[in-house]
Amino acid sequence: MIDAGMDVARLNLSQTSLERALERYHRVRGAAEAARVPLGILVDLPGPKIRLGAFEGAAVIEGGSLIRLTPGDGKSTAEAFTVNYPNLLTDLRLGDRLTLGDGSILLEIDHIDADAFIARVIFGGTLQGRPGVHIPSDRLTLNSPTDQDLRLLDAFVAVGVDMVALSFVRSAHDIRRVGLEPAPRGPLVVAKIETRAAIENLDGIIAASGAVMIARGDLGSECSIEDLPHHQKEIITRCVALGRPAITATQMLESMISAPSPTRAEASDIANAVFDGTSAIMLSAETAIGIDPVNVVSTMARIARRADQAFDYDGWASSLRKAQLQEPTQVDAAVTDVMTMATWRAATDIGVKAIVCISRSGFTVRAIARFRPQIQILGFSPEERTVRQLSLSWGATPLLIDAIDDMESTVQRALRSARDGGYIKPGDLVAVLAGSSATAGMTDTLRMLRCP
Ligand code: PGA
Ligand code: MN
Repeated sequence: MIDAGMDVARLNLSQTSLERALERYHRVRGAAEAARVPLGILVDLPGPKIRLGAFEGAAVIEGGSLIRLTPGDGKSTAEAFTVNYPNLLTDLRLGDRLTLGDGSILLEIDHIDADAFIARVIFGGTLQGRPGVHIPSDRLTLNSPTDQDLRLLDAFVAVGVDMVALSFVRSAHDIRRVGLEPAPRGPLVVAKIETRAAIENLDGIIAASGAVMIARGDLGSECSIEDLPHHQKEIITRCVALGRPAITATQMLESMISAPSPTRAEASDIANAVFDGTSAIMLSAETAIGIDPVNVVSTMARIARRADQAFDYDGWASSLRKAQLQEPTQVDAAVTDVMTMATWRAATDIGVKAIVCISRSGFTVRAIARFRPQIQILGFSPEERTVRQLSLSWGATPLLIDAIDDMESTVQRALRSARDGGYIKPGDLVAVLAGSSATAGMTDTLRMLRCP
């Protein structure tokens, strides 16, 4: 999968035990080191992610039939589901609708029978494994992150994980509650947008997080399905404007769980996510349980690469300029806006061969990537974790530099390293972009130099 184009591996902790997830974490790290690529690892904390107890084999759920729902962790059958949500019987009401398996099966709570809800199957289908259950988020009394999330997080912070995703966040407060040190001292926090409340508090959530995931599986159950493509566009636009990578996720190549090639709609969906400006695209079940994960990754990479060729780069940068420079409220942000815009202009008008960014936290790389320049962005950081976090950013080639000390010597070392790596040739004009102070959060230096 690394050879086929995987930049980041997500470990979804709602599917495995901590021990197995840690074992996989080390296996992925080992594979990335062997391949000598700065692969990012994202652990995804389940939050109040609700699942049915496991089915033995495949269970056919007939439309119109009645299903018994009880809280617990025991096995599920085609007639009786266990749901791992302890507050099931108190939080839900008659008439509430539950979707299973990212929307394929729909149930409606019909009546109560002693210690169980009896639900009618509106749309049937086949279930296997431990399907996710979507309960409308305004019914849930369990908050994200859960105590269990914080325990899982501790274990992964201890091994130096690069990024952590929070499920079902509703406000910036939920993100601050994880109490992590800002990146690169701590992992990059990815807020998953999958509740109605998160849509309402979008700008605050983006500002409090390091990156965002458009979690279309649960979000598609929370909102009207016809609104989903528009939420995707809006979230991506807001994220890019604020220099936060946006990940478009779920069902991108769903049919390839069992087929060797995608549907036409899936191919278009990937290209359109690229046109929307997404920084990253994600696979879930396709690679977790699909018949040919490598084929899925290479298919996705091919479609994305082709869409990149057709992207409206000029249109993007000019609409971003309008979005960005209307009312700069903070001086640091305004300086970064002006300096990165100047870099984009210089790069586009003079035709430099590379934009070399020198950045401890990756902030400068993300700030210039907003403009989607058609020139390679070389992101140098002395922090290995930053380098791996930049694998999520649009268009960036993350590179390690031994240290950031005296600016002149750092720039020369970066240029030599870019030249030795074959990214630029002696005499090439390059734009060098950096923050002059050690504290992250402002890009204030632009220099135009020739490669030695
Ligand atoms: P999940 O998140 O796969 O952890 O549910 C993504 C989504 O909801 O789309
Ligand atoms: Mn989800």
